[in-house]
Amino acid sequence: MTAKLVDFHCHLDLYRDHAAAVTECDRLKVFTLAVTTTPLAWPRNQELAARTKHVRAALGLHPQLIKERAHELAVWREYLPRTRYVGEVGLDAGPAHYTSFDTQKAVFETILRDCAEQKGKILTIHSVRAAKAVLDMIETLLQPSRGSAVLHWFTGTKAEAARAVRLGMYFSINREMLRNERHRATVTSLPLDRLLTETDGPFTKVDGREARPSDVSLTIDELAELRSLPPKELTEIVASNLRNLVSD
Ligand code: MN
Repeated sequence: MTAKLVDFHCHLDLYRDHAAAVTECDRLKVFTLAVTTTPLAWPRNQELAARTKHVRAALGLHPQLIKERAHELAVWREYLPRTRYVGEVGLDAGPAHYTSFDTQKAVFETILRDCAEQKGKILTIHSVRAAKAVLDMIETLLQPSRGSAVLHWFTGTKAEAARAVRLGMYFSINREMLRNERHRATVTSLPLDRLLTETDGPFTKVDGREARPSDVSLTIDELAELRSLPPKELTEIVASNLRNLVSD
């Protein structure tokens, strides 16, 4: 993999022209993990990603969709042996999704058990207002020897972040996280060898437009300033973290 920049969490299939978004990542050599919110979207993502050097497709079932789509877990399970990357999966205990929290936990448990059993999967994980529950479940069900967890847009406490580090997890950081004082402090406390970057596009914006994977260069600049490193050095660190993650 020769990619210099890393967008470890982007919804390429939610851009107006999905195929063009995929092609752009490849042309600009941005390693992009194309996450899906439903397993029904995975085959097309996989088909487009398979033609590229820098884009990979992740098999997801988003916690915010569980209320309507828990039954799609069967489809998710059917596709799992065909992918190494999994996401977006996880838990969301925000007010809009709390009513499905028990179902979310049941689905996430199956997801973690299946991943552990098949070994070597890399997961991008949503944990809004549910950091403790997510960490508890991963600690129990997906040991580092069975799979790798990357916490996406992590907004838990500094103590929870430290616990995730001890459990071997990585963090994908976006610019929105750096807008918030408390989250900035958490990001500052993370070991450099666990950092990845992400956009979560198109859900984040740059100058009023939808963020694109190559915009992670802006994240690198801000993160480099925060960590008092030259951007070039941080770019290398993130690229090396990605290599370590995928070569495990
Ligand atoms: Mn997302």
